[in-house]
Amino acid sequence: MNQPPFKMRHLIAETDVQFVKGVGPRRSEALASVGVRTALDLLYYFPRRYLDRSRIFKIKDARSAILIPDEVTFVGRIKSVQAAGRGRRFLFLKLTDETGTLRCIWFNGVQYFVNAFKEGELIAFSGKVTSYQNQPCLIHPDYDHLEDESDEEFLHTGGIIPVYPSTDGLKRVGLDSRGIRRTLWKLISSLENYELPDDALSREVLTVNSLLNLKEALTSIHFPKDERQLGLALRRFKFEELFYLQLLLAIRRNLIKHAPGIPLKSPGELVRKLTQEILPFKLTESQRKVLREIVEDIRSDHPMHRLLQGDVGSGKTIVALIAILTAVENGCQTAFMAPTEILAAQHLATIQQYLDLLGIESALLIGGQKKDLRTQIYSDIEDGRASVVVGTHALIQEKVKFNKLGLMVVDEQHRFGVIQRMALQQKGENPHLLVMTATPIPRTLSLTIYGDLDVSVIDEMPTGRKKIKTALRGESTREKVYKFIREQALAGRQVFIVYPLVNETEKSDLKAATQSFVKLRDEVFRGFKVGLIHGQMTETEKNDIMLAFKRNAINILVATTVIEVGIDIPNATVMVIEHADRFGLSQLHQLRGRIGRGVHQSYCILMTADRYLDEKKVQTREDATAYHRLRLFTSTTDGFKIAEYDLMLRGPGEFFGTKQSGMPPLRLANLIKDRDIIIQARKSAFKIAESDPHLRDSQHSRMREVLVKNYKESFEFLKAS
Ligand code: ADP
Ligand code: MG
Repeated sequence: MNQPPFKMRHLIAETDVQFVKGVGPRRSEALASVGVRTALDLLYYFPRRYLDRSRIFKIKDARSAILIPDEVTFVGRIKSVQAAGRGRRFLFLKLTDETGTLRCIWFNGVQYFVNAFKEGELIAFSGKVTSYQNQPCLIHPDYDHLEDESDEEFLHTGGIIPVYPSTDGLKRVGLDSRGIRRTLWKLISSLENYELPDDALSREVLTVNSLLNLKEALTSIHFPKDERQLGLALRRFKFEELFYLQLLLAIRRNLIKHAPGIPLKSPGELVRKLTQEILPFKLTESQRKVLREIVEDIRSDHPMHRLLQGDVGSGKTIVALIAILTAVENGCQTAFMAPTEILAAQHLATIQQYLDLLGIESALLIGGQKKDLRTQIYSDIEDGRASVVVGTHALIQEKVKFNKLGLMVVDEQHRFGVIQRMALQQKGENPHLLVMTATPIPRTLSLTIYGDLDVSVIDEMPTGRKKIKTALRGESTREKVYKFIREQALAGRQVFIVYPLVNETEKSDLKAATQSFVKLRDEVFRGFKVGLIHGQMTETEKNDIMLAFKRNAINILVATTVIEVGIDIPNATVMVIEHADRFGLSQLHQLRGRIGRGVHQSYCILMTADRYLDEKKVQTREDATAYHRLRLFTSTTDGFKIAEYDLMLRGPGEFFGTKQSGMPPLRLANLIKDRDIIIQARKSAFKIAESDPHLRDSQHSRMREVLVKNYKESFEFLKAS
């Protein structure tokens, strides 16, 4: 990249950022560390927040802001900064505006913050307002130093100030938020000297979706003239993010839809025998409906690619088994992949009882099997003797070779990345794929995360189930709860008592669970058989305990959340969850799903501190959310309702855990709040992929470029699959 010739419009994408006015070599080095190398990159360095007069709170209104779930901003001058406390120090800062004084508190990095703030300076603090010692306050808020004259003017004239993310390295060269703002202001003021790249979104896409064009959007995302303009700019870039994601999904789906598959014949004798002679129950209408969808898929010339959604206990495993038998009847092998060894073993135990009656060979493949056994299993799989192979991701190791893989079932999908799913698919020649998940996923979200799959939903529970009774109990009634457990155990029922382990390696948490176990075994439930299971046991130990529990050799099982998914023990009727306030909603739902699977009435008891029982005792925001979460949970067993609420509270990142890989990260778009945009972007993307599957049309060439460049990794997968 050279210095551009004087007085010529230069390509912004090829202009080294150091030639932007006010940058220079030192700053450009710092900018490179955040990925900004060209003037165009700088233009794409978006604000992380905006200070907008309409969203700035006066300090006198801080108390009312305690109940607002969003962050709010206060602008004022620093009145005092004071470190306090011996041993563990903290920092108190007082912020004033013309309406009052607000306290901000830091518990960590005290020395750093003492130096970061100067008395008298103009500053904006943003965060969620909490209550501390009965006063509204901000704990560890984000802050933005404001510039006295220009920023104050912005604020008074109702302007919107962009706030930029910065790093220590950037700050050292004067590029704090203020510095970046100034630099971008200069760049945007001289934009007529540059030539912007062509808009990757075609005119049609822009028009149909009423989007700002690239130049307008880039200008307005930094310096919007008003709230509306800012909304439009954000919408354009959110759309773009979601659009490429959907385009990837559309292309992937097209590839699958057109790939040659393994057409199978409809279910025959094996399935008839299972459903008519072996199963002690009739399939629900819902199970039959999804089976029809599956059968239609597997009969076609192209591979099935389907997500089976159904709440815990809705009977997905039987549906999978019928699909498996159909493949076996057609002379194919099947693979059944579960996220943990316990679950794999359990799935095998469940389906083996049927497979044995039908004379079908199965095998289990998990980590840690002895070498001889493993070699034997490998060869059984390779020569096709094992018709049904159940396992963990040990299944996707290179050494595993199938003779003729016709169907793969993946359970509890959200624990696997897209990557693992694809790796398994490559074990055969476009085998049919059935992904099962018990996490009810709101529709717009599933359009994104499973957007390349067709979806079937089991929306009905097997009949004859009694509704689980859920109760919230405080410490003061603990003895009563224990008495109830003893009664249930005496009546022959089995009980789970679950402790939260925030982190399975957290020693103190594990100690708490282990100590409670000793006390429960030796004192509270003397005379009963009490077992313990936790995540730090080996797989074999865990397996042994689960099997003992399953054959009723343990009455009361003390557990950490290792039992969260999929365990099926129909005789277990009581689920006690300790410190229930510490669990997320979806986790509580999964835990509750472990009971209520048999003929007896089941009970889920949430143990918690008394303060979560009474709305009047709720003090902080955290208490308030825990209170509402627990209320909602006791009031419904509807998984979808629970999931929507959970998603709203936690956002999709945590909802799916960090393992949900293979999806390009979203910088601006929000999978819950931006429903409308998701739907529009999907529509446009699918339309393009339909009419121009390889993006060869000239109006899509820039789109193709962006897709290949920005989504390279995902793209590699596309080609691989
Ligand atoms: P999921 O995997 O969806 O959580 P499972 O397949 O484990 O649910 O089924 C839960 C329990 O319900 C199992 O014990 C299973 O045998 C039983 N079950 C499945 N389908 C039916 C049905 N149609 N009628 C009665 N019981 C059923
Ligand atoms: Mg299951």
